[in-house]
Amino acid sequence: MSGILLSVQDLTVSYRVGRGQIDAVDGASFDVETGSIVGLVGESGCGKTTVARALTRVIADNARITGGKMLFEGRDLAALPEKEMNALRWRDIAFIPQSAMNSLDPVYTVEYQLNEVLRRRGGMGRAQARLRCEELFDMVGVDAKRLRDYPHQFSGGMRQRVAIALALALNPKLIIADEPVTALDVIVQRQILDQLQDLQKRLGISVILVTHDISVVAYICDRTVVMYAGRVAEQATTRDALLQPAHPYTMGLRNAFPDLKGAASGVLTPIEGAPPNLASPPPGCRFAPRCPFVMDMCKSVVPPPVNVTTSHLAACHRADEAGALRQIAEKAETWMVPA
Ligand code: ATP
Ligand code: MG
Repeated sequence: MSGILLSVQDLTVSYRVGRGQIDAVDGASFDVETGSIVGLVGESGCGKTTVARALTRVIADNARITGGKMLFEGRDLAALPEKEMNALRWRDIAFIPQSAMNSLDPVYTVEYQLNEVLRRRGGMGRAQARLRCEELFDMVGVDAKRLRDYPHQFSGGMRQRVAIALALALNPKLIIADEPVTALDVIVQRQILDQLQDLQKRLGISVILVTHDISVVAYICDRTVVMYAGRVAEQATTRDALLQPAHPYTMGLRNAFPDLKGAASGVLTPIEGAPPNLASPPPGCRFAPRCPFVMDMCKSVVPPPVNVTTSHLAACHRADEAGALRQIAEKAETWMVPA
């Protein structure tokens, strides 16, 4: 099971705001291999949900995909007629929106909502759908007796399991899960992530997991794509991205999160400052105003992605010095004064 299921190439998504526009995603490129989990990580507002929604083409009224390709099994999702795109939703690409409560309608039982997908989208008859509902609940570890319950009758963790069951309903090839564990406590986070990984491996599906929390990525993702202010800063195997980051932003993120496994970690060091306003981003590297390693050229020249290894890309002018910068980045004082 290998090969590229999805190839996102130079994706640009803009929002119309007043008389202007903001490029919330600006030239993002990354691949998803069949049967792998790719983590899309970065601070609030960096464009993760915008990428996720662009992939399903369920975007806000003021949003537009203004450039690039999203090749899913070779077909460009950006160019598909809406009818063909709609046929792919749920069947091939399932989306779990940010906050499970959003994906579940509070006025219908969860069985009703599963049936909507199974019968309407999947063409199943009543009896077949009933069996599939039970099977899906079993897969995500919720008692099938709860099928007739309403979303508010479930705990947050159970609601998230139900949202995963809904996404799995028609055996998709790709699940895009937007912050699937963010609102949950660490123990439940681990249970849900373990289950998602188990199902993903068993069923051979691919997952794009969107999160702001690098420890979630570290826990289950095969590859990591780090976004900053609408651009991809770095991408690599999760191991390389976290153990040998080549972009200063990734180095900083690594210092800023506790370990999900509960391993003793030192003091957390935040990255001072805030991401730029996307309505008027800085002209060069968008991380330059917060980067402890900034050089003059970073303020004017956009750094192109550089191959650190064949499977590791970093959009940094100093990527070739990454080894030395990593050592400096490990010291808390490096991050104390914004450059
Ligand atoms: P979070 O971690 O908070 O969910 P995110 O990385 O998912 O953040 P997005 O929701 O993709 O970020 O937002 C990216 C940028 O686009 C932000 O600056 C946000 O304010 C802006 N944005 C998102 N939706 C709209 C919209 N409908 N109209 C205008 N701007 C928007
Ligand atoms: Mg989001």
